[in-house]
Amino acid sequence: MAVNIDGDGCRCSNAPVEITRDHPLRALNTFGLPAVAPWFARVSSPTDLREALDFARGHDLPVLPLGGGSNLVLAGDPPGLVLHVAIPGFDGIEDGPQGVLLRVGAGEEWNALVDRCLGLGLYGLENLVLVPGTAGAAPIQNIGAYGVEARDLLVEVEAVEVATGRVRTFSNDECAFGYRDSVFKGVLQDRFVIVATTLRLSREPSVKASYGALAGELAARGIAHPTPLDVAEAVRHLRRTRLPDPAVTGNAGSFFQNPVVDDRTAAGLRAAHPDLPTFAADGGCTKLAAAWLIERCGFKGARRGAAGVHPSHALVLVNHGGATGRDILALAAEIRAAVLARFGVVLAIEPRVIG
Ligand SMILES: Cc1cc2nc3c(=O)[nH]c(=O)nc-3n(C[C@H](O)[C@H](O)[C@H](O)COP(=O)(O)OP(=O)(O)OC[C@H]3O[C@@H](n4cnc5c(N)ncnc54)[C@H](O)[C@@H]3O)c2cc1C
Repeated sequence: MAVNIDGDGCRCSNAPVEITRDHPLRALNTFGLPAVAPWFARVSSPTDLREALDFARGHDLPVLPLGGGSNLVLAGDPPGLVLHVAIPGFDGIEDGPQGVLLRVGAGEEWNALVDRCLGLGLYGLENLVLVPGTAGAAPIQNIGAYGVEARDLLVEVEAVEVATGRVRTFSNDECAFGYRDSVFKGVLQDRFVIVATTLRLSREPSVKASYGALAGELAARGIAHPTPLDVAEAVRHLRRTRLPDPAVTGNAGSFFQNPVVDDRTAAGLRAAHPDLPTFAADGGCTKLAAAWLIERCGFKGARRGAAGVHPSHALVLVNHGGATGRDILALAAEIRAAVLARFGVVLAIEPRVIG
């Protein structure tokens, strides 16, 4: 196998998994919101996970899987057991003409994974560089950026059923991926803990660079025939200049999904607002730019106490320091009401709201 294999996902000690009480979560979510897990376990191996799930079943506790906490709004304390999934793994399982199959532990940091693959000459993930969070959470909302989504690369997802402890493998089709959506965000939410994903990558560079902002950045750099490394560098630059760093200003990336509307609604909106940016979506529908709608309602840079809208990106709600999840949700409600009143469009919140 040409791909380096290290990180076997095994536990190095025989100590039972540690389950603690009243664990603070502020440092474990990128919004920096205060909340406390009544029960908490960090699972670094399948054995840890089995023990923690046995404990949850024995105590009749609901389970909340947690990765990097970069897609969460903690508006209250989660009930039950918070399972911080830190299972490692980076294993090449096939290397042939169809590409390289890579099995990645759920606890691997996504951006480090992208960098590592690029360093090994394994291509496909470059557009998704700098997306925060873990590999195990990537299928949950089918992460996407600059023209590529996780579903384009995911072959299967390995998960443990919370109710039984049984391992189940989901094919790409069974994951029912959609725009920022999957079966794990819907009917199977919290019913499975993802332990690994298998990705199909390529040794042959096949660059996707037509996404508007990315194409513009590459053109500005004078790059007519970009390599995957060029794409990664351009995306890094775009993200660093557009998005606040959660280490500095608490946030969860895009707070609202871009609304998808039927063609009739889109035509009506375009007639009333000729400069409204629209994009083709699945099923003949039209995707609207949520940031544009929010900006037009005057919220860019708005502040309500410690909760705010980022001054250079209307889609990103921020914690200026000391905001609670309720503060963030109150601002979100104000924005949603304004967009509905002015445009008749309902904005859906992208991160998961707890409490
Ligand atoms: C600055 C910034 C930029 C971002 N940019 C993008 C972007 O470009 N595109 C994009 O799609 N997203 C983006 N996001 C959102 C976020 O990075 C992704 O959704 C990411 O996949 C979340 O990973 P996580 O490990 O932090 O998940 P968490 O926030 O910890 O969890 C999110 C959800 O997944 C569930 N979950 C987590 N791990 C597991 C597991 N192992 N098994 C089962 N369920 C699990 C949780 O229960 C929760 O429901 C951005 C966020 C930030 C802060």
